[in-house]
Amino acid sequence: MQKLYGGKGVRKGKSESVSQWEINYKEARDDRRRELLEFLGNRCERCGFDDERALQIDHIMGGGRRKKENTGTQAYYKEILNDPDVKIKYQLLCANCNWIKRFERGETR
Ligand SMILES: [Zn+2]
Repeated sequence: MQKLYGGKGVRKGKSESVSQWEINYKEARDDRRRELLEFLGNRCERCGFDDERALQIDHIMGGGRRKKENTGTQAYYKEILNDPDVKIKYQLLCANCNWIKRFERGETR
């Protein structure tokens, strides 16, 4: 039974460090996101909705979703922040307007 306790201890320590890493990662990502939202005006371009929980970064010319999948969320935000044309290429839309835009552009199936 001693072996089992030892195993438990190791597993516990490991999961703690993983969750701490996850928290740090999420905080850094959320900071980046907040920075970007603020930079883009902190409200929906279409309707003015300003609850950041439902605001999404929209690639005006489309294709933003595909790009995000390739580079990862944090790298994606960083790339947008470093883009000199950021205000030409990106806008904020709330979840509703983003869906409506997708329907309008025929991006949903
Ligand atoms: Zn909206």
